[in-house]
Amino acid sequence: MAMLKMEEWYDLARSTNWTPRYVAKDELFPPELSDVHGLPDAAFDAFDEPYKVTFRDYVRTQREKDVGAYSVRAALARGRFYETAAPGWQALLQLHFGGATFLEYGSVSAFARATRFGKAAGMRNMATFGSLDEIRHTQVHLRFAHDYLKANRAFDWAHKAPRTDNWVVISERHTFDDIEHTRDATSFAVMTNFAFETCFTNLQFVALSADAARSGDHTFATMLQTIQSDEARHSQIGEPLLRIMVEHGKRAEAQMLLDISFWRCWKQFSPLSGICMDYYTPLEHREHSFKEFMQEWVSEQFIRRILDLGLERPWYWDIFLEDLETFHHAQQIGVYLYRPTGWWHAVAGVNPSEREWLESKYPGWNATFGTVWDVIIDNVLNGRIDATIPEPLPMICNMSGFELTGVPGKKLVDYTLDYKGRRYHFGSQVDRWIFEQEPERYAGHKSLVDRYVAKVMPQTAEAVLTYMGMSAPERGTDGTNYTWAEPYRLARGKAA
Ligand code: MN
Ligand code: MN
Repeated sequence: MAMLKMEEWYDLARSTNWTPRYVAKDELFPPELSDVHGLPDAAFDAFDEPYKVTFRDYVRTQREKDVGAYSVRAALARGRFYETAAPGWQALLQLHFGGATFLEYGSVSAFARATRFGKAAGMRNMATFGSLDEIRHTQVHLRFAHDYLKANRAFDWAHKAPRTDNWVVISERHTFDDIEHTRDATSFAVMTNFAFETCFTNLQFVALSADAARSGDHTFATMLQTIQSDEARHSQIGEPLLRIMVEHGKRAEAQMLLDISFWRCWKQFSPLSGICMDYYTPLEHREHSFKEFMQEWVSEQFIRRILDLGLERPWYWDIFLEDLETFHHAQQIGVYLYRPTGWWHAVAGVNPSEREWLESKYPGWNATFGTVWDVIIDNVLNGRIDATIPEPLPMICNMSGFELTGVPGKKLVDYTLDYKGRRYHFGSQVDRWIFEQEPERYAGHKSLVDRYVAKVMPQTAEAVLTYMGMSAPERGTDGTNYTWAEPYRLARGKAA
């Protein structure tokens, strides 16, 4: 029997929309779960996914990806790469596995909702594969993290993180609950598939896998590449929906979803990928700075796609460009100082040659962020480790969940807003603007500091750490045991 070619049957086979007779349309596709924008039903018929795949081909390809990743892992297991890796790379792996695994798992149900409530048949089809993808991403993360567990207990956080109220986890949950889990399927596609997956996962998966390969971590590089190849496919759910929104008079709504989700993802990935690339990756293995990756992929490629769709750059573009020079540098100082609150063993990443690199990539770094590190260096060299770990909690942004930071030497601005008798604090004008667009969505959230003030936990530093799930042996310490500061001792004439 002659087999039909895929293109001869695909469109027919996946056109599964019908006119319901036993229930009303809105019962089958409740607007709050399917489409809050009121797009006409017929609009969704135009959905045409750029990347078409059949279940048979999907399974075959995924199997090959898994076989590839797991064989690399098995072949290299005896090389004990992790044990001999630089402390910065170890910190990066600890941070990545603890921070990313539960996001992968969350995406499973997000895609499952798009599979059920997406109004375009092609979208439901692709989202089905998306759910399966995210199950695989969760599994591969858990499996690989488990290999490292015998080397360091930080990898336990691949499993433990979502069950804690660690501040990093609270911040991640707030963001991804917003863009991934509490939106209708149409808005989800714009915010998660388009803004998050076509733009930001590239950073963590393509850029980082390049750094991983250069660092000799082929297991991690292969894992990231297999994940990114899935992301590249299922992220394409977003663009056709954006196109449909623009064509049916919902340009303003599309722009708003894009502006909110781009900023929310930026505030997550700037500290995550920014610190990993500019501080944790060993200097000799860095390909580009975080800013250079962002400029190429975001400022150029992503913006070109937005403009092609008839949309605009987000209104806060100038603020974003300034943030690109500063935010992750400020956060790196906070993350390093508050290292006992993280499950990974942070590194400073500012020895003399690393500083030179930072100054060359971010002119002015030494005169600003460098001055703060000078104080930290003095304390370390004088044996005042206690002075490098602040006890009071920092003010936390009620949107991003990150510390309010600025540029050393410039005034720190706390963007406040009073709403229904409560004062909210934000790290930027944009974070506050997002709150203002839909206050009821965000008003109930309590940051870690809000919880402390509300006496959810006893008022001691120890109690805060316990509340965050950080038992004493789990608390982050300096991954280099402070040896990074030694080269400064000679230069500063300090006795050893
Ligand atoms: Mn994924
Ligand atoms: Mn994904």
